[in-house]
Parts: sequence; structure tokens; C-alpha cells
Amino acid sequence: GPPAASHIVHHIIRSKYKEVSLHSQSPLGETTLECYNCGCRNVCILGFIPAKTESVVVLLCREPCLSNNALKDQGGNWDTSQWQPLIEDKAFLPWLVKVPEEKETRRCRPVSAEQINRIEELWKTNPNAKLEDLDKPGVDNEPQPVSLKYKDVYEYHGTFTPLIQLEADYDRQIKESQTQTNISVRWDVALNRRRTAIFMFPKDEADVRLVVGDEIRIKYTYDGGQEWKQEGHVKTITPQEEVVLELRGAVNQSGPWERNITQHYGVEFVWKSVAFDRMKAALTRLATDETSVGGYLFHKLLGNDDIEEQTIRATLPRNFSAPGLAELNHSQIYAVRKALQSPLCLIQGPPGTGKTVTSATIVYHLCKQGQGQVLVCAPSNVAVDQLAERLHHTGLKVIRMYARSREDVQSSVEHLALHKQIRCVTEAGGGGHQKELLNLLELKDEVGELDNEDERKLKKLRGQLENELLTAADVICCTCIGAADARLSKFRFRQVLIDEATQAMETECLVPIVMGAKQVVLVGDHCQLGPVVLCKKSAKAGLSQSLFERLIYLGNRPIRLEIQYRMHPCLSEFPSQSFYDGSLQNGVTLSERIYEGLDFPWPNKEMPMFFYNSTGHEEISASGTSFLNRTEATHIEKLVTYFLKCGLKASQIGVITPYEGQRSYIAAVLQRPSSSISKELYKDIEVASVDAFQGREKDFILISCVRSNLEKGIGF
Ligand SMILES: [Zn+2]
Ligand SMILES: [Zn+2]
Repeated sequence: GPPAASHIVHHIIRSKYKEVSLHSQSPLGETTLECYNCGCRNVCILGFIPAKTESVVVLLCREPCLSNNALKDQGGNWDTSQWQPLIEDKAFLPWLVKVPEEKETRRCRPVSAEQINRIEELWKTNPNAKLEDLDKPGVDNEPQPVSLKYKDVYEYHGTFTPLIQLEADYDRQIKESQTQTNISVRWDVALNRRRTAIFMFPKDEADVRLVVGDEIRIKYTYDGGQEWKQEGHVKTITPQEEVVLELRGAVNQSGPWERNITQHYGVEFVWKSVAFDRMKAALTRLATDETSVGGYLFHKLLGNDDIEEQTIRATLPRNFSAPGLAELNHSQIYAVRKALQSPLCLIQGPPGTGKTVTSATIVYHLCKQGQGQVLVCAPSNVAVDQLAERLHHTGLKVIRMYARSREDVQSSVEHLALHKQIRCVTEAGGGGHQKELLNLLELKDEVGELDNEDERKLKKLRGQLENELLTAADVICCTCIGAADARLSKFRFRQVLIDEATQAMETECLVPIVMGAKQVVLVGDHCQLGPVVLCKKSAKAGLSQSLFERLIYLGNRPIRLEIQYRMHPCLSEFPSQSFYDGSLQNGVTLSERIYEGLDFPWPNKEMPMFFYNSTGHEEISASGTSFLNRTEATHIEKLVTYFLKCGLKASQIGVITPYEGQRSYIAAVLQRPSSSISKELYKDIEVASVDAFQGREKDFILISCVRSNLEKGIGF
């Protein structure tokens, strides 16, 4: 279709080049658009203010100059409330760039949005490419899409492998393009005696936001041209969005901090292919190793419908609730019973229906069947941690295995972590090997790197002990990708449970399944967000469809948990009607969800919800790829302030917005609240995207919808 933005704006966003020079015949003459105060040239954040007296305008950037009221010393000639962005509805204001008249456009060749995107893509490698070049063979062929059924495992393998490769290439390309230069760094030494670098990673510009655990390389070039670099991982991100990077190696290694250098560092992602390699390996294992999955599951995976349904003759427990976990409701008991009896079971858990308790209970009973160790996975580390904690409460012997690269990242279940248990066992003072291992571990902490001989010895001793601990566990918990860790290569798991299965790519789920599974429980909710696939082409070809979802389309009925405990009944009604055929029942009563002590003008006192019609106009964000709405952000800040003044804790309040531009803008607005109450109070207010909030809960949620335009446009 035709581009949703003007050509100029579309090209600016696609090419990530945001400086614009005006034509000599334009109203402002031949000039480069820039902020009067700071000289910033990103047209996405530039706006103008008309003078009160003369017919002139001043250009000012939204952040930081407009927010800081940078013109307040200019004699009152400028009214900053009159500020308007230069780009409105994804086009430059007509007085700045004249809109061509119809008779001028009649002779123009129409160019679609898709063609613009493709030519910009081509220009990255061939700056002289023309539109005609798009039609040449070999230029961006569409990949083969996924199917519902596969005639054999080779077709399955041959469909998914190229899609994963495409995603891997894309992931690499965007991660590597995230290189930032000119970063200012504060150096510090953390309590664990690791060298840390603290810096701001320019936000909003980033396609990829840094998250805890990301591996980062930091570089510096000395005056003589000599380059220093070191890798590390993101340890925390402060509410002020400062990144705390923990460097690899000993604290006494040499580096630029010795000369108090704080400016001009380079920071880049360390791209890792391991997740993609493991998914491809899982596909190959499925295709080549007959023992990788049981026969029934194999046919189910390929979508064969001429296979007879099977039930497992398991002895069912008399009491379905597990020790240390909440009593189950009838809908959860039904799900547990079905899961224990089926070789393949899909459990759908709408928000607040006790998905984690149900999963943990299933795993508990599976363990009690004595069919060997149970493997418990989820795509995200957070979900695995939560499940591991619940399993631990049942009294099972649980091991939470992290990737080696994450062993230094803080976790909520450290007591279950394999690397911590290694520490405990050796510190408990076993003789011989354990003493030797402890010495080596402590030496490594002290000096950072061991010599080859010691490193080899450490690996051997640690490997042996890890294997002993893993073998003794009832349950092993790790991410789906983590299941292919070398430490588990000799293990086989007949019974596998995957939580958040609808947020994993199909091939991601495959990784734990191809380790000998005969019984698989997938828990998720295909009515919530699906897996994140970055490459548009592979997403379009079907990589963004989870295995759970495909199995449902094939006619496998999921068991739905139907009693929700999270929302006030008036809030659950909409999702129930719209997404769950009206089947959600409430496990909470009206009065349990009324918050005493909050005097808020709800339109209906019994129904604590409120739609506020905010009339502010949307603006594009600094990257041009997202949106923000300043009026809405101001309203959000006022509401948050009101709630805080009523005595709510910041941790009870969550702000959700679908747009990254608005997310970072609201976060900035909350840093400079209009009210007199302490700025500190706002620090723990969580402002997050829909994805980041999924599966979590807060007592009060404010939603900023952002979009507001004359075309009624929404979407991204
Ligand atoms: Zn164009
Ligand atoms: Zn500025």
C-alpha cells in the first residue's frame, strides 16, 4: 500500500539518518534544521515556537531543551507551551516542506511503502541501487513459510532451518549495528571485587534495549592509537537507566581506569550464535536420531492425524494438591489429571489463573512416578526461576542450571543454582577433590584467570561434581535453550514440562523435547503475546507461531484454567468475553479488590476503573520508529502523584504503554515530577511495555495508549 508517512519521513526513519537541510527556495532558506539551544539535528525531536511579537520562529528540541525550559532567559518572547513538532502525522509541517499539488503528483510514479523499505535495505549494501533493481532475481527472496502438517521430518527440518538462519543473520546485524561511541564511563569496584563500568546507553535510539545478562564489549583507544577492550555482562540497569557493566577478569587487570579516563569509550554488543545453533541442532537431532522423541510425539509434531490418541495409565494421586503449594481448584485439578494421563498435554492459563502452581503440581506428581528426572523449561530466565522456587517448596530436589555466562547475574533462586550448590558442597569441607576444587575456585576469584594447567584441572573437577549433583536431582530447571548445555548432553528426560510455551518459537520448544521425551506438558496462553521474532521476513513466514499454537490449529484441544484470582471482577469481564468465550470465573470477590483509603473519583464506586479522554496529539519519538504523547505523559505523572499522596507505595503502581517512545518519555517525566513530594518516591514506579508486564501483577495499573491523530491510526 501507499506509505503511511511522507516519503521524506519514511526515508529518514528507514535510513536512520535524521539530519535535514532545507532547499534554498524553502521559507527558511537553505539551512540545516537544528536546535537553537543545543544544536541537536535529529528532526524527529525538533519543534518550533512562534515568537509572541514578530513573525519569526525558533527551533528547539523536545529533550532536553524544551523540558528544561531552555529559553526562559530569552526575555519572555517565547511561550514554550506553543511548541509544536516539525513532523506531524509523519510528514513535515506544510509551511516547512510544501506538499506537492495534485497536478505535480499526477505524473509521478507511485511508490509503495514496501518498495521504500526494500530500496533502503538495498542501499545499505549498494548506494547506487535504483527501483528497477528490486525486480532483479535473487534480491530478497521470500523464505518458504511454515505449514500445519509435514509429510516427513526432512520437510520439517528443511522448513525451519532457513527461518532460524534468517533470524540469526538479522539478529546479528541489528546487534552489531548498535555500536555506540563517545560514551562517558564511571569506574567502580563492586562488592564481589569485580571491576564495573557505569554508563548511559543512549535510549530511544536503540532498536534493541539492553537487558540484564547481555554481553557487552567496551573499548577505548589511547592517544598512541593502541586499543584496549574487555567484555562483560550487564549486571543491573538502574531506574535512571544507567547500565552497570561487570567486567570479566581480575580486579587488578590493567585498563583505562588507571589513568582516570572517563570519556570517549565505545560500547558494542557481543553477538552470540549459541541459541540459534542449538535450535538448528535440535532440528537435526529430531531428523536423525530415532530415540530423540517417542513415536507418538514424533507424529504429533509432524501433524499426522492418522495417529490414535493415547492415554498413559498412570496411578493417579489421591490428593492432587502438592505439599508446600496452594490447594488446587477444580479447574486446576482437572488440568493436573489430564497432564498426568496424556503423552502430550496443552494447558492454557489466562492471566491470574494459577499457571505456575498448576505446573509445579504436575511436575511434583511426575517426579513421584519414578520415571527418572523431570526437565522443566521456559523461554525466559524469570519464568524458570519462579517455577524452580515453587518446586523447591514441594520438597523436591531442584537444580536450577544457568548458562555459564549468567552465573554472575543475580537471581532470585541462588540457593538452587548449580554453580552456587557447587560452592556450598565444596565449602562444606569435603576432603580430597572437593578441597582442591574449592582452592581453584577461590584462586580464580582472586586473580581472574587461571593458567592453563589449573584451568584444565578446575574444569575437570567441577565437571565431575556438577554431574554428581545433576544426577542426584529430582528436577532440573533451565531455559529451553539452556537444555542443550553441554553439562546435560549425557542426560535423557522422558518427561518434560515447558512453561510460557506460547512465548517460545517452535524450535525453541524443540530443544528440551528432543532429549528423549515421551511425555510433554506445554503450558501457556496463545491469547496473550507470542514469541518475539525480530526479522520481519521470518516472522511473516511463520517463525512467530509457537508450537503450542500450531498444535491447537491441528485440533489438539488445550485444557483451560478458568478461575482467575488477579483482577477485580469488573476488570476480568472484558478479557473473559473478548478472548476466552466468557469462560473466566472470578476467584476473588468485589470487596476483596476494593482498596480502602484511596479517595479516587471512580465514575462508579463499585467498579475501580476509569477511562480518561486525553486530547493531546501524538508525536514521533527520537528514533522515528515509535510514538509518544506528552499530554498523556503529564496526565500519567499527575495520577501517579495523586496515588502516592494517598499513601500508595510506588511498588503497587505500574504504568504500561505499548510504545517504547512513550515508555522512556514517561520515565523521564517521572524523574522531574511537578509535585512537592520527594522525587525519591517515584524511583520505584515501574514503567514498562506490554511484553515486559505480561504475566506479572500490580495493584494499580495506568495505561497510556499514546496514539491520537486525525486518521484514527493505531499500530506500529
Ligand atoms: Zn522515496
Ligand atoms: Zn536542544
